[in-house]
Amino acid sequence: MYRGMTWERTVPCWLGLLLTLGGCKRASIAAEPTRDESQRVPARRSATPSPGPSTQAPASATASASAAPAPSAPRADSLLLITVDTLRADQSWSGYEGAKTPVLEGLVRRSVLWERAYAVANTTMPSLSSLMMARYPTELPRDECGLPAFWGSETLAEALTGAGIHGAGFHGHPIFAGAFAPSRGFAEWRLVKEALGRKATSGAVTGADIAAEMVQFLRHNPPGRRFFAWAHFVDPHDSYVRHRDFPPGPSPRRGLYDGEVSYTDAQIGKVLAALEETGLGASTAVLVTADHGEAFGEHERFRHGHTLYEEEIRVPLILHVPGLTPARIAEPRSLIDVARTAAELLQVQPPSPWRGVSLLRDLEGPPAPRPVLIDAPPLVTMTGQRAVLQGKDKVWWRGNSAMRLDLARDPAEQSQETLLPGAAPLLEAQRLFQAIPQVPAKPCYRGG
Ligand SMILES: [Zn+2]
Repeated sequence: MYRGMTWERTVPCWLGLLLTLGGCKRASIAAEPTRDESQRVPARRSATPSPGPSTQAPASATASASAAPAPSAPRADSLLLITVDTLRADQSWSGYEGAKTPVLEGLVRRSVLWERAYAVANTTMPSLSSLMMARYPTELPRDECGLPAFWGSETLAEALTGAGIHGAGFHGHPIFAGAFAPSRGFAEWRLVKEALGRKATSGAVTGADIAAEMVQFLRHNPPGRRFFAWAHFVDPHDSYVRHRDFPPGPSPRRGLYDGEVSYTDAQIGKVLAALEETGLGASTAVLVTADHGEAFGEHERFRHGHTLYEEEIRVPLILHVPGLTPARIAEPRSLIDVARTAAELLQVQPPSPWRGVSLLRDLEGPPAPRPVLIDAPPLVTMTGQRAVLQGKDKVWWRGNSAMRLDLARDPAEQSQETLLPGAAPLLEAQRLFQAIPQVPAKPCYRGG
């Protein structure tokens, strides 16, 4: 039996601010477009390496598995990781027409796109720490505010720099400043001055400065030096601001957000252009993703950090590797896999505690199904919640409430099946979490 089920919980605005460094606004509703996910073929490394990330895409964006030569392992000397705060999965390359994103759309045409990629959590630090440490948030030391003590394992940067790869971070979000910033392993950690002392998510525009720092880094990278450069663009996070060159769409809230996304797309374009100008693009992999999505009223909620509906947890996942044939992969995947993917691309041994599976396995043949675990840890303002996706079946629980959603029949998640404690699908989903040890959260860090 399917029936409506609501987990609304009133969260004071100031507590929401504490958790996500955002604001509270009223807004209108924008629907998520439907997407064609019929294409699903493995990518193969092409016989002739492409010049780099800004090279024009081939006529067909879909690889032909049968005609491809025998695959060789994709490799790169360096990695450019671009994460965009609050970037939803539905963008121009998947049929959404509200935001112009020519740079990322072009990158998608020459990349492997995972069409159903999921952040591990629905707020910034749990998600990014999971991405950087290939561990689930609730198994990491942390505090109840989600800020800032999520560092309890060897990070991707530490693994890479331990192998002689130069690590550099470029950031504008306030959580990247201070003693608990996720800077471990980075030789350089550049914070744009506009973000320091201000809340970059409350009106500051930092994308151009972050891009400028990254461009300077690329232009001055010593010959032959391998690097891992990570930029986190934050402008699409609310509060949304109006950009003169990227006017908002008609929807009061999504339209403004779309303008922020278009603005960020242009800033990423500067970085990719610098990669080409310097010649580094021929040996540098580019991975673009996001820490979580954003709700625009699909389920009567706005912003993020509230639910595990698709709009809050589904994100883009784009990987360009020079010489790798573009493809689209429809099998659901988790960002828990990013660290192992990066390590394999750069030929670095991953630390044994890391979870996940290198996404490069998806390029060797038909992608194997495997469950995607969502692990939004309990915070001072909300109960922890978890979900397991297997194909298009989603089981999601919070406390003693649980439900099952059928994304094949109902991609907009407008109806759900209530699951009682002990229900077989719930037990099966919870069993997948039993192998993950739980670490209690500490009280919120109060500074010092
Ligand atoms: Zn975020």
